[in-house]
Amino acid sequence: MTTALRLDAAELELHEIEEHLEAAGAPRFHGRQIFQWVHRKDITDFGAMTDLGRELRAALPSHFSVSTPIVAGRERSTDGTTKFLLQLADGNLIESVFIPDTPSQTFCLSTQVGCAMKCAFCLTARMGIVRNLSAGEIVGQVRVLLRELHMLGQRFNIVLMGMGEPLHNYDATMKALRILGDEHGLAVSPRRVTLSTVGVLPALERLATEPYMPNLAISLHSTTEEQRDRLVPINRKYGLQDLLDACRRFPLTRRNRITFEYVMLDQVNDTPEDARRLVKLLHGIKAKVNLLPLNAAPGIPFDRPSDERVNRFAAILADHHVTVSVRRSRGRDIRAACGQLITESTRASAPGQRLATLMQAPKASHR
Ligand code: SAH
Repeated sequence: MTTALRLDAAELELHEIEEHLEAAGAPRFHGRQIFQWVHRKDITDFGAMTDLGRELRAALPSHFSVSTPIVAGRERSTDGTTKFLLQLADGNLIESVFIPDTPSQTFCLSTQVGCAMKCAFCLTARMGIVRNLSAGEIVGQVRVLLRELHMLGQRFNIVLMGMGEPLHNYDATMKALRILGDEHGLAVSPRRVTLSTVGVLPALERLATEPYMPNLAISLHSTTEEQRDRLVPINRKYGLQDLLDACRRFPLTRRNRITFEYVMLDQVNDTPEDARRLVKLLHGIKAKVNLLPLNAAPGIPFDRPSDERVNRFAAILADHHVTVSVRRSRGRDIRAACGQLITESTRASAPGQRLATLMQAPKASHR
C-alpha cells in the first residue's frame, strides 16, 4: 500500500473505507473485514484483525486510526438506568444513557456537546452549544455502551434524545445512522431508531427524503404560538403551524406514527384547555402523544405537575381517541432523565476536579 493521510476509520462509511483502500493500492473487499471488526466485534487494533494478511495488518496503522470515546465516569440508577460520561479526543464531555427493559434495551445518544435550542425547561440548554459531534463520535457512543454493558451481539434501540438537537447537526447525525445501519456492521434497522427534534424545519424537510428513515418524535410542548415562542425559542423562527404542516406531509409507513412529546409544566401548559387544543392541532396527523412530566432540577424555573393533573390531561386526549402515554422517568436519581444531561465546559477546571464536580452533582428533587 502507498501511504496517504491517516484517516479515522470510526468516522467512515464502508464505501469510504473501500475507496481509501483502493486508492492506496489494496483490494476493496478488505474494507468489509475492517468494518466488521470495528463495528461488530469492537476490535480496533489492526494487528488483531486475524483474517487480514500479515502485510496488510502491518500497513494499516499508517493509513487508518480508530478513535473511541473514553469512559470518564459511570453512574447506575436504582432502576438500572446507567449514565455514561464520555470524554472525546479534544477533552469535551458528553453523556450517553442506557435504559434497560423498556421492554427493549435502549441507548440514548447525544448528537452535540451542549445544545443551542435554549428550551426553557431543559438543563442541557444551560450549557449553550459547545460543538457538534462527528459521525464517529455519535457511533462511538454505541460501541462504548455495547462493550461496557457486555451487550455485543444483542439487540438494542436507539433514541437520539441525549444532549443536543440532532437536526441542528444534520450531516453527522445522518452519516452516523448510515454507519449504524450498515448490514456489514451493527445493522441497526431504522425501525429501532427514534430521532427527537424541536422541529428545525429545513432539516425536517430534508429528513423526509432520506433512504434511512428513523422514527420521528417532535418536541411540541405547547399548543399556542405565543407560549411555544417562550418555551421552545426556535418556534420564533419555525412556528407551530408550519411544523405541524410539515408533519402532515412527512412520509410515514403504513404502521408508523409521529410521536409528539409534551413536557408537562405545572400550571403552565397542563390545563384541560391545553389538552383540548392539542387534540385539535393533531387532527389529521397519524400521531401519538408522549407526556413527559417535568424532571425538575435546580435552576429550572418550573414545577412538575401532580399525577392527578397529568392523568386528567391524558384522559382528555384518550377520550378524543388520541393515543397517549406518560413517560415514566428513568434514572432521575442520577440525573440521567430527559433534559437533565449537562456536562461542564472543558475550559472550566482541571479534568480531575471537573469529574469530581460532575459525579457529585446535587441530586434532582423527587416528587
Ligand atoms: N433536542 C431534541 C432531543 C433532546 S431531549 C429534542 O428537543 O427533541 C429529549 C426530550 O426531553 C425532549 O422532548 C425535551 O424537550 C425533553 N426534556 C427536556 N428537558 C426536560 C425536563 N426537564 N423534563 C422532562 N423532559 C425534558
